[in-house]
Amino acid sequence: MMTDEEFSMQMAELETAFKEREELKKQRGWRNKVDPLSLEYPDYLKTRLWKKEIRPRILLRDKNKCRRCGGNAEEAHHISYDDEVMLGMDDDKIWSLCKGCHTVVEFTNTGKKRTAEDKLAALSDVSFNEAQPEVDMRRDPFRHPHWKRLTAVQKQVYLHEYSERKMQGKTIRPT
Ligand SMILES: [Zn+2]
Repeated sequence: MMTDEEFSMQMAELETAFKEREELKKQRGWRNKVDPLSLEYPDYLKTRLWKKEIRPRILLRDKNKCRRCGGNAEEAHHISYDDEVMLGMDDDKIWSLCKGCHTVVEFTNTGKKRTAEDKLAALSDVSFNEAQPEVDMRRDPFRHPHWKRLTAVQKQVYLHEYSERKMQGKTIRPT
């Protein structure tokens, strides 16, 4: 059983947390009178705050470089969904990533969503990448089955190798 004292302490904590959240929102403000913290994630990603402010700011900060593989970054990845992060007041927890690294970080090899812990591990550990794919001359690179899971750097290497071989006339046609 919760004592009266414990109960009022918990109430006070909840109240403080609520006030802090309201204060944060007031400080940061939001447009169109829509509270970004009230939105589902897919809708949050459509807000001006994310599309026009936070996301471009993150990519600019990282000079459009993937923080995982160093290739060309096109996406911004949330390491945390805390209020401060979502309101654009804690950019350290958002990283620029290339599409390939983002896929590897978010999904396992079998396409399942990773757990938060697993995501963090995949963010800094390149051993989560697929094994270096063999350049397959029978396929257009973009149709390579692992293409989506290749980091920007792996894609560059692949494309380079592919075009080299193509120039040497090494196209192999399936018989
Ligand atoms: Zn990358």
